[in-house]
Amino acid sequence: EIELQNLSKSFGELDAVTDVSLSVRDGELLCLLGPSGCGKSTTMRMISGLETPSSGTVYIGDADVTDEPAYDRDTSMVFQNWALFPYKTVLENVAFGLKMRGMGKQQRRDRASEMLDRVHMDGYESHSPTDLSGGQKQRVALARSLAVDPDVLLLDEPLSNLDKRLREEMEIELKDIREEFQKTFVHVTHNQDEAFTLADRIGIMNDGRLVQVGEPNEVYRDPKNKFVEEFLGDTN
Ligand code: ATP
Ligand code: MG
Repeated sequence: EIELQNLSKSFGELDAVTDVSLSVRDGELLCLLGPSGCGKSTTMRMISGLETPSSGTVYIGDADVTDEPAYDRDTSMVFQNWALFPYKTVLENVAFGLKMRGMGKQQRRDRASEMLDRVHMDGYESHSPTDLSGGQKQRVALARSLAVDPDVLLLDEPLSNLDKRLREEMEIELKDIREEFQKTFVHVTHNQDEAFTLADRIGIMNDGRLVQVGEPNEVYRDPKNKFVEEFLGDTN
């Protein structure tokens, strides 16, 4: 479970996130949806510990982690641009992060190849990530996040660098992974289709604020204000 209480973040004069309160239940997939610059990534980065809030509190499970560094939080993040290491093999990329969790070498290799199998990337262990397509890189990034077995997976625009066909394929993949691994997901996207396909609940952000949270059909049928109505009406 994740709980955000009155979370705000300013960069100098700019209020990137203002007074966001939200809870995400265990096993739930919550999509943060909203236009570019509305504060989705900043909110996500405060959950992961990559950004320190200006005010407010972040709870993961029962613990107040607001002042905990990222590596002490039971979260793992997948980025839009994959952030794979180009000079490491696919297997080494996935195994990265397991060492500091105290796993021996063979155990790390076994775990990494198990995760690569899981995302249908077996056979690519010794490849360089630079040789892979966008969808394949995204699978490797996903395998790397799953390998450390976090309670919470944070996905920041994980599919937006993919073309439509690959995106739809990866949406199915993500659904399967959800069914198999009991994890809590926060999934940031500006793509409505993706949010409506994947989410248990959707949180809509505008201008640093969380303007509405609800189940997809609820948000769709009963937009809380003009912004939500227009944003959802815009089919781009
Ligand atoms: P996008 O859909 O384009 O990724 P977003 O909803 O993720 O947008 P954020 O990245 O959270 O938006 O940015 C919110 C606001 O905060 C933007 O105006 C952005 O320029 C600003 N911002 C984000 N990070 C920083 C930073 N490190 N320093 C200064 N301003 C920042
Ligand atoms: Mg962003």
